[in-house]
Amino acid sequence: MVKILQLLEEWGTSLSTKKIKTKGIAFKTLCNFLLIISIIIFLIWLLEISLFEPIYRSIQTENVEDINEDIVSNYEVYELDNYLRLSVENNCNIIIFKVEDKKAEILYNTSRTNNPIELNITINQFLNNLGNQSNVSYINSSKDSDVINVGEVRSFDSVNIYFYVSANVTPVSSAIEVSTMLLLIISIVSLITTFIVSLILSRKLSAPLQKLSEEAKELSNGNLDMKFTAIGYDEVETLSSTLNYSIEEIKKSDKLQKEVIQNVSHELRTPLTLIQSYAELIGDYSGNNPEKRKKHTKIIIEESKKLENLINDMLDLSKMQSKTIKYDFIQFNLSEVLEKLEDFYKTKYIEYEFVFKYPKKCIIKADKLRIEQVFINLINNAINYSQNENRKVIIELKKKKNEKVYTFSVKDFGIGIAEEDIGSIFTRHFRAFSAKRSVAGSGVGLSIVKEILDAHQLDIRVESKLNVGSSFYIDFFTVE
Ligand code: ADP
Repeated sequence: MVKILQLLEEWGTSLSTKKIKTKGIAFKTLCNFLLIISIIIFLIWLLEISLFEPIYRSIQTENVEDINEDIVSNYEVYELDNYLRLSVENNCNIIIFKVEDKKAEILYNTSRTNNPIELNITINQFLNNLGNQSNVSYINSSKDSDVINVGEVRSFDSVNIYFYVSANVTPVSSAIEVSTMLLLIISIVSLITTFIVSLILSRKLSAPLQKLSEEAKELSNGNLDMKFTAIGYDEVETLSSTLNYSIEEIKKSDKLQKEVIQNVSHELRTPLTLIQSYAELIGDYSGNNPEKRKKHTKIIIEESKKLENLINDMLDLSKMQSKTIKYDFIQFNLSEVLEKLEDFYKTKYIEYEFVFKYPKKCIIKADKLRIEQVFINLINNAINYSQNENRKVIIELKKKKNEKVYTFSVKDFGIGIAEEDIGSIFTRHFRAFSAKRSVAGSGVGLSIVKEILDAHQLDIRVESKLNVGSSFYIDFFTVE
């Protein structure tokens, strides 16, 4: 009760200070509840106005018929008292009479008016309506009321006894007044109850959302250490946990961004330092020595090339991720690409053992240059991460049995990837701990691979074991 009063007081204050949020869920719930109850009350009033009279009439008619049946079947046991009671209880008149020498002889009469003329008129009218039938039912209509008349004639000890019951079927104005009053009270009580219940309910419904929005404000202020705690119903709880998940993701990407900056600046710094030092060397010592000068300029050119590659890779990736790059899908023979790569790798990396296995023909529809870029990135990684180990790389394109699918794979026997790192290697600038020590890389290559394959709706799978080696697989669908 105290709570209700408190709520009402709050409501009152917000009304007077015009602080009510008319677009808020609490206000809307309240309005909807009030609208529903108003519609129900309106319908009840409509029904009462249109149905009260017909229902009253049918109940009264049925009543009168029942009373008639009752008095006929109990004629031999009933006394005046019984008739009077029935008459008072049901607001009706009962007349029982017999006819002797064409004159009615009243046996029982419960009507309040004992006026013989009036009584005679009623009896004559009844006898006229009855005619030769054994029972009759008719309505006498007057200006302000209708009267139902029911009766019958029965023979007791070969004497004809006439039973007559009449009652008003138009509701008296007092009955209408009572029912209207009752309805008015019910309407007011239900309106007040609905108002209070919906006030409580709307608060309850909106409370978790309000909490959520307050917590969200904290997040928008940059507090990443906060946690969404709003509970109450499923949707809010799901939203809370989704937001908590997002915060975790933001934190992770925050961390990743820092790592990226560290990685990239490290990768940029190494060649830049080398370029700077060799340029100084040329300026100070080797400038006049053609042999040394050539050697040092070569290093400068190589390092600048690395820088260029790194910058190009990063530009490429950011274009791919922002979807500004256009793919040129054409039909071509994948085996021809592999043939070209076999030639290139076998001549350029003579210290490695390459095994190329592929069929003569495998026609696919894709962006040829980008797919070639994917193969180069994978093969380069295989080379880079097996520098100090077994320098064998197997590149294969193999048809799957009974399917139009060719699986491309690159297998190396190098340093491998730790199980916990496998899930992250396609993330931009991720570098496994084992890789950091061994190879200079930017951590962009596999992200580019993933972007290109995503654009082709192709998947890449990895199998790898630390110190054993890695295999990468891609399934291509031939269009032949
Ligand atoms: P980068 O090689 O320039 O570091 P990548 O995106 O190509 O960047 O690879 C991401 C990371 O995945 C590498 O740093 C390395 O840790 C791991 N990785 C990729 N390929 C191999 C492989 N063949 N063997 C071992 N580790 C690999």
